[in-house]
Amino acid sequence: MSSLADRFAEIRSRMESAAARAGRKAGEIELVAVSKKQPAEALRAAFEEAGQTLFGESRLQEARAKQPELPGRLRWHFIGHLQKNKIRAALPHFELFHGLESLDTAQQFQRIAAEEGLLPRVLLEVNVAGEASKFGFQPAALPGQLEALLALDRLSIEGLMCIPPPVAKAEDARRYFVALRELRDRLQSEARFGLPILSMGMSGDFEVAIEEGATHVRVGTALFGERKKEEG
Ligand SMILES: *Cc1c(COP(=O)(O)O)cnc(C)c1O
Repeated sequence: MSSLADRFAEIRSRMESAAARAGRKAGEIELVAVSKKQPAEALRAAFEEAGQTLFGESRLQEARAKQPELPGRLRWHFIGHLQKNKIRAALPHFELFHGLESLDTAQQFQRIAAEEGLLPRVLLEVNVAGEASKFGFQPAALPGQLEALLALDRLSIEGLMCIPPPVAKAEDARRYFVALRELRDRLQSEARFGLPILSMGMSGDFEVAIEEGATHVRVGTALFGERKKEEG
């Protein structure tokens, strides 16, 4: 198997090619190395051997156990779902929350951020395929909820995020990435409100996501290898 440094170099080079195909600058796109289920040593190696400083975690307890073991200059994004009783504990430890999935959750974030004197940066998760089992704002309903969201003055809402349903090939995910970008464009023009971040694309489809405007790709397996099986 190739080294961790080789895999980071390969993914970054594929990101650059995808950006070039779309006439974009590679520097506009951030690689969020998804390190859930990876031990702290794997993150340390990614930092020391590949210069990676930005990591995405989806479980609070796991992330909080790793953070103190690693250099203070690493940057952390939360990419999962937070139970309500964990928002307070999570807020100070992540520079961006990718998966704010409902108005109700946004209101909880607002209340707790006000109590704690914090101004969290967040992305709204959109259920781009309208799957019944998935978290996220419904694309058709989101424009109508925007006013209520904008009233939450402790939240810095900076963009949209999606996790499309599994597809057979990367190309099949393109329509979901287009849908997220178009929704973002519509919200921006209707609300005159900047939503610069599009968090979309994972190991299997990040190049297509970049071609469609992703500013943040969340890549785990292609960098770190297979994770141990999920248990929830
Ligand atoms: C696990 C996870 C990823 C990374 O998935 P890979 O297929 O391993 O690249 C990206 N985004 C979210 C929200 C995840 O939970």
